[in-house]
Amino acid sequence: MPGIVGGFPNLKELNRRTIRGHINETDKSTIVSIWPKPIDFFNITLMPRTWHIDAGSDERPALLVVGSGSWWKDVHPDEPLIEIPVGSLSVAESLVKDYLNGVYGCDMDTKRPGLYFIPGKHDLASIYSEEHKPLLEMAIARQRAYYEGLILEADSLWARSNGNPLAIGGDMRQAATALGKLDLDWMANFTRSAQVRCFACGAFKSPDFPICQSCHTADPEHPKFKAVMEVKRLQQDMFGGLERGA
Ligand SMILES: [Zn+2]
Repeated sequence: MPGIVGGFPNLKELNRRTIRGHINETDKSTIVSIWPKPIDFFNITLMPRTWHIDAGSDERPALLVVGSGSWWKDVHPDEPLIEIPVGSLSVAESLVKDYLNGVYGCDMDTKRPGLYFIPGKHDLASIYSEEHKPLLEMAIARQRAYYEGLILEADSLWARSNGNPLAIGGDMRQAATALGKLDLDWMANFTRSAQVRCFACGAFKSPDFPICQSCHTADPEHPKFKAVMEVKRLQQDMFGGLERGA
């Protein structure tokens, strides 16, 4: 009823009260991360809705202890909202899976970022204990395999794009850095001053080679110019000779 403030709630409003579920405060699970990026988890259908885990590493995994969560079951507009508790293990599993599902190059199996969960509340000593160390070692191996997959992909993109630095994603460079493969062509191009403009046509070209891929002009200022022209002359003589002989 408009205009009436502080009136008695009618029966319908009473029916929209919430019925709390049974929450087990001691139910905890631990998410472990050796992924070198901090993660902000967000789940709109759960309460709480946000979680944060710091960046981790093989040597120092980051930990996040999660408790149980809840969602609210809305059976009918005239019925109460019923709280449905979700165990901490399901919360941890859903956060980890949702995140991994969105990571490019992750196959959800043997090639995946190092993110996993263990039932119960754990500290670093427990993560390294005899019981839990195999999980950590598996995560390290899987993350390595994931990095290697990304590097293969980058090699292919690099070749197909004729060495365009924009074809290589940040994750791929991160993978190469993590595995210490800084001598890869596409890493060198990233660390050096990428590309220069061709003096003749203005297209971007590699500073390592005298000939432009767009207009095929050789740069006379380039240190390799003389050698290139020498080879061109030899080729011309050969083909010229063939034509004459024909
Ligand atoms: Zn050019």
